[in-house]
Amino acid sequence: MNEQNWDGQADVVVLGSGVAGLIAAVEASGSGASVIVLEKDSRAGGHSLSSEHDGRWMAVDTSVQKRFGIPPSQRGTPDDFFRLLTAGQEASVNLALARAVADNSAEGIEWALELGHDFVAIDPTAEFPPPRPPPQPWVHRSKDGGPGWVKVLQRTAEERGVRILLNHRSRQLITNGKREVVGVRADSYGTQLHFRARRGVILATGGFARNKDMQSRFSERASIGDPYTISPQATGDGIKMAQEIGADLETMEWASIGIAAPIPPGYVAGGRFGPIIRAGGGIIRGAVHGDGHGVGAPSIFVNLHGRRFVKERVYDRSYITQMCFQQEEHAAFAIFDDEGRKMGGGTIADGFSENLEKELSLGIVVQGGTAQDLAEKLGINPENLAKTIAEYNKCLADGKQESDGIGVASNAKPIRTPPFYGLETNYLLTNTFGGPKIDVNSRVIDVWGEPIRRLYAVGTVAGGYVAKWYQGGIYFPNWACLGRVAARNACAERPL
Ligand SMILES: Cc1cc2nc3c(=O)[nH]c(=O)nc-3n(C[C@H](O)[C@H](O)[C@H](O)COP(=O)(O)OP(=O)(O)OC[C@H]3O[C@@H](n4cnc5c(N)ncnc54)[C@H](O)[C@@H]3O)c2cc1C
Repeated sequence: MNEQNWDGQADVVVLGSGVAGLIAAVEASGSGASVIVLEKDSRAGGHSLSSEHDGRWMAVDTSVQKRFGIPPSQRGTPDDFFRLLTAGQEASVNLALARAVADNSAEGIEWALELGHDFVAIDPTAEFPPPRPPPQPWVHRSKDGGPGWVKVLQRTAEERGVRILLNHRSRQLITNGKREVVGVRADSYGTQLHFRARRGVILATGGFARNKDMQSRFSERASIGDPYTISPQATGDGIKMAQEIGADLETMEWASIGIAAPIPPGYVAGGRFGPIIRAGGGIIRGAVHGDGHGVGAPSIFVNLHGRRFVKERVYDRSYITQMCFQQEEHAAFAIFDDEGRKMGGGTIADGFSENLEKELSLGIVVQGGTAQDLAEKLGINPENLAKTIAEYNKCLADGKQESDGIGVASNAKPIRTPPFYGLETNYLLTNTFGGPKIDVNSRVIDVWGEPIRRLYAVGTVAGGYVAKWYQGGIYFPNWACLGRVAARNACAERPL
């Protein structure tokens, strides 16, 4: 490419303006580098704009924990955090990435505070069974949630002179004869443009939660889920661009899914979750309320055989989801009784009508006069379901902690008042976990194990960080650590 053919140039070109891309842009511009961010959407901020109720940021031994009165013994250490990130994960998780994130989480929080971001509370981490550590007060709740953090980053980037070019979809990485990434080809309103990166390109284009073709090739988990609050731009562009020039991929099969009630077309859910639910399904609260979202109606999960397979109401949603997903045909059913129904539809699933009339008439919830009757309507083993419920109730009456070998929550209630109700779970997809392999310097690694020169990746576009178990709040500390590492290393490249 000749010098005169470039339509724009900067020291660092960042692709994508989600939290990860904005962090990299802020850090690079802070060291005096010129930065262009190419953003496919008509607004900056990406996925995090839909996490207004969240903005959770996990970190250990921070000044914010101290400010909120968390005693030193509960503030955690980098080793504790590393254990949380890695215990029970599949072997494919990149331990070096987890180590870097765990070692630098407090520093990421300080950096955010310096930029003017703040935190309004400290929450406990979610509960998973061993070998994962028990809940600890490590989750920093962002002021104004995910969008609050985006606002701080975008404002800082703009103050530092970063040019965020909206409606610019990057299409291809441009390499020179030495296999160095020297620029990007992009489209904007049908015009093809070329941007030169004098020092480096940072991929931050998010995952492939909106790309059915990639899901069916790489991830059964992702393909089974209905997209939930996901930016339509999460089409895996950056993964493909990196693949095209030889990048290796990691953790492609893993994705964050959550159990939900199936919602037929035309269903209008109520409450504050209504708009979200229309995009996927009502998140089931009944048997799952270990994740801090309030008390759900007493209910159990059973599989096609009418058998329980998980200790309900105790562990994190992602753990319970994983257990549901592992059942035959990925089929899991939430079962409850009339006492549960009387607690109100919202205690069964977000957005359900108060008395469940609407969901019963649409067939989302099924009713049976007896456990056998309900089982037949749901297509599960009737004798076993009746037996499972009877054993479960007896276990509670006897004060035992296990029914049929599966633990029972200490606050569990019997299921004994007819009619009985059930619903088959659906799955919602919130994120994919796979993408180009990166090293601890955020460099993209090729299929031969060598770094692709001048190419970095950060955020959900990159693989290797999460596999089987996802805990809310573990992303932001990663982006604050490895996004800034990417920026610093790109800035340190010899200028072209
Ligand atoms: C409801 C919800 C709650 C969440 N809560 C939390 C939480 O509490 N804590 C936490 O740590 N994480 C949370 N997450 C996850 C977190 O929001 C995401 O992990 C994070 O926002 C992803 O950031 P990203 O920058 O990697 O990707 P994205 O935010 O997806 O950004 C990618 C950007 O790249 C752009 N793009 C895509 N393709 C191209 C292209 N070809 N060219 C140019 N631009 C392109 C997209 O338009 C987008 O702006 C939550 C997610 C959801 C959905």
